[in-house]
Amino acid sequence: MTDTTTSDAAAAPSAGVTPSAAPAGGSGISIDGLTKTFHTGRGRTVTALQDTHLHTEKGSFLALLGPSGCGKSTILRILADLETPTTGDVRVDGKTPAQLRRDSELGIAFQDHALLPWRSVYANIRLVFEVAGRRTDKAYIDELISLVGLTGFEKAKPAQLSGGMRQRVSIARALALKPSVLLLDEPFGALDDMTRQNLNLELLRIWTEKPATTLLVTHGISEAIFLSDRVAVMSPRPGRIKEILDVDLPHPRTPDLQRTPEFHALVDRASELLFGADGRAAAEA
Ligand code: ADP
Ligand code: MG
Repeated sequence: MTDTTTSDAAAAPSAGVTPSAAPAGGSGISIDGLTKTFHTGRGRTVTALQDTHLHTEKGSFLALLGPSGCGKSTILRILADLETPTTGDVRVDGKTPAQLRRDSELGIAFQDHALLPWRSVYANIRLVFEVAGRRTDKAYIDELISLVGLTGFEKAKPAQLSGGMRQRVSIARALALKPSVLLLDEPFGALDDMTRQNLNLELLRIWTEKPATTLLVTHGISEAIFLSDRVAVMSPRPGRIKEILDVDLPHPRTPDLQRTPEFHALVDRASELLFGADGRAAAEA
């Protein structure tokens, strides 16, 4: 298949088939033969992804690790319907990214938090209801604000918040429409280690309370292992999934887990896959 519009048409309501009944993919994230080539002008192209395959179960948490420029954000942007595949098939629960976006099934939090500076915490979260044309669920917004630990800051503007607090607003906003898919692209990348560790713990707690099929892009090997069920390690550009590690660590996860031999063994294995046995990366990780 070279064009997702073909499969879109097959699943269109006019064909008498409901989107969720689309045959490809099943439930969870399903990426098959995904290639993405960017045209960078004067006939030059960059192949960001080449024949990438990735499958995750519904409700699972997968972390994507890989060198800079290997196409991690491109995968998330394609799932978020912000880019289209050059070739290949991308679905979640049988739906194409365009269908997911139309059905407001996507929760997105990227490193650049993109909060509107003139709107309060509450009004930034309310915005997603407005954009989706849905009635604002005030009680749920209050619940989310409490879930991310920002009760009392409802009326604060982004400039009055710390970086960590702004990222919490982004996470609350990503959850506002009860998405079935959560796409997180280095959401805590710009934060100091301690804030990041705290937010990771909160993210785990939130994810346990509001489970969604989650894909997290991160540079942090420990973070990837601490948070996820599986870690997919990518090769340098053009990106492919090199190996998937099962993170067979118990829940609920607490910080002391990070000091166990099992945790260290997984960190070592992921580092080896990422940097090679001699510890040298093919590209910056
Ligand atoms: P990662 O998130 O793994 O660091 P990206 O997915 O952002 O990598 O990018 C993968 C490759 O695709 C990089 O070489 C990047 O320069 C290129 N790329 C990404 N988006 C575009 C774009 N819109 N136009 C041209 N090249 C792009
Ligand atoms: Mg990126």
